[in-house]
Amino acid sequence: MMINNFYKTNSVTREQAEDAVRTLIAWAGDNPNREGLIETPKRVVNAYQDFFSGYNEDPFKILGKAFDEVDGYNDIVLIKNIRMESHCEHHMVPFIGTAHVAYIPNGRVVGISKIARLVDIFAKRLQTQETMTAQIANTLNQALNPKGVAVLIDATHLCMSTRGIHKVNASTVTTTFLGEFKINSNLESRFLKMIEIQSNEC
Ligand SMILES: [Zn+2]
Repeated sequence: MMINNFYKTNSVTREQAEDAVRTLIAWAGDNPNREGLIETPKRVVNAYQDFFSGYNEDPFKILGKAFDEVDGYNDIVLIKNIRMESHCEHHMVPFIGTAHVAYIPNGRVVGISKIARLVDIFAKRLQTQETMTAQIANTLNQALNPKGVAVLIDATHLCMSTRGIHKVNASTVTTTFLGEFKINSNLESRFLKMIEIQSNEC
C-alpha cells in the first residue's frame, strides 16, 4: 500500500491553478471577471493549499520521535474524538468527522499530539474514508511497531448530504484493527466501549 503520495510536482503553476478555477466558474454559468468573483481564484487556490497540505508532510518524520520510558505500561493508549476534515477523492467535497486512534505500546510511545498530526496528514489529501483509516493504522504500526493498533473514523460526507441522494444524517463508520486488536475480540470490545460511539453523535 502506498503511504506517501508525493505526486506533487512543480509542473503546475499557481497561475494555471487559478485559471482552472476561472474555467470552472465560467462553466458553472457565471462571469469570472465580475467584481465579486475576480479574487475568487486566488482564494480558492489558497484554500486548496490548506486543504491538501498533507501531501507535503512525511508521517514517519512526525512519528520518528518516540519515547522508550513508559515504566512497563502495556495497555491501550487511546486518543479519541480527534476532529478530522478531509475531501473525498470522488467529488472533492468535504467529509467531516471524528477519528479515534488506539495502540498498545511495545515499549515505545509517541507524544499524543503526534497522533492528531498523523490524522491530519492523511486527512489533508484527496481521500476515501476507507483508505485513510487503513493508512493511519498502517503508518502507526510501521513507525512504532506496537502490539496492536485500532482506528475508527465516523464521518459525514457532504457529497452524500448536499448532492446526489441528499441523505443528511447518514454517517459512515470505518475501522482497521491490527495485531492484538485483531486477534483478541476482548480488546476490540474494550476499544469500542472506551470510545462509546453513539448513533446520534454525528
Ligand atoms: Zn464523494
